[in-house]
Parts: sequence; structure tokens; C-alpha cells
Amino acid sequence: MVTRTELEGKALNDGYQRLCLNHEGYRSWKKQDLARAARAGTFDGIEIAEPHWPEYPGPASPAFGCFCDACRQAFRRMFPGEPALPDIVHNDSPLSPGRNPTLWEKYLRFRQASLTAFLDDLVNGAGGLRQTCPGVQVGTWTLALAEQDGVRRVRADSGEDAGEVAATVRPDLHCLQTHWPD
Ligand SMILES: [Zn+2]
Repeated sequence: MVTRTELEGKALNDGYQRLCLNHEGYRSWKKQDLARAARAGTFDGIEIAEPHWPEYPGPASPAFGCFCDACRQAFRRMFPGEPALPDIVHNDSPLSPGRNPTLWEKYLRFRQASLTAFLDDLVNGAGGLRQTCPGVQVGTWTLALAEQDGVRRVRADSGEDAGEVAATVRPDLHCLQTHWPD
């Protein structure tokens, strides 16, 4: 991923290696890795834990993302009329969330759609778990947040809509994960 910190020209050395949900190479590797793990362990079920976009509390977070080339291209496919991703670093930019709330709203919709599509691909897509591991139960996760306006915040900060994931991916089980601010 390309996060806010990389957009600022710095390195985010927080111990995580973040891989973009829109990167085709990552998706295809992840599908192969899930199938390999499920078979090697002869597991009855497999869960895909913590597939969040980073992160709470929103665009001020050093890890907020993603602004990589794969995301730029995917955003342009979803919104052909928008030439660029938002600019979360320069508040006076015409592409900043404050000055272009319409673009920002589209970007948040894009992140949510991307995350749901990522999980749908891992489970139901070509080479996904339903195909490679028939009979293996599949669990998905999203964050829950008890604070004020928590459902909207999780959609905006992490790109997760539990109802949309459940309805689209149709997992055998869905876990609402305790969020650290709670
Ligand atoms: Zn990306």
C-alpha cells in the first residue's frame, strides 16, 4: 500500500507490511496461499481475519491508505470522470476532502467496494476457496465500533460494511471483531 506517510515522503516503520487489496498479484498469491494452508492443515474451516483498510481515526492516521498505482487505476475504472485520487496531505488542494467532498465520498465508496470485492474474490472468485477447497467452511471478519456513529466510522476509516460483506461474500460465518478504541 501507499499510505499517508509515504505521500508525505516519509517511511512508515511501524512493524507492518501492508499489501494492497486491489493488487492483482497479491490477490492471486493470497488465493494460492489460502488453498495451500487449508489443504496442508486438512482444516474443516478457514477464516480471513483483519482484512481492513488502514485505518482509525481516518485520513489523519499515518497509515491511512491506499494511494498506490493499482488503486489509482481501479478508482478510474469505477469513476471514469474523476482524473485523480483525493489529496489528503495538502488541505488547500482542490482534491482535498474539505475542498472536494464529492471526490472524497466517491473515494470512500471505492475503498468499501474494493474491500468487499477482495473478500468476494478470495472466496467465490476464480481460484478462490469455494473452488479450491469445496466443503471447507469460510469465515469473514469486519470491525465493530460501539462509539457514536460507529457503523459509519468503520465504513469510512476501514472500508468495511458488515452487511455488504455478508450479503456479497455469503460466508458460512461472519465475525464482528472488537475494535481497539472500545
Ligand atoms: Zn492500493
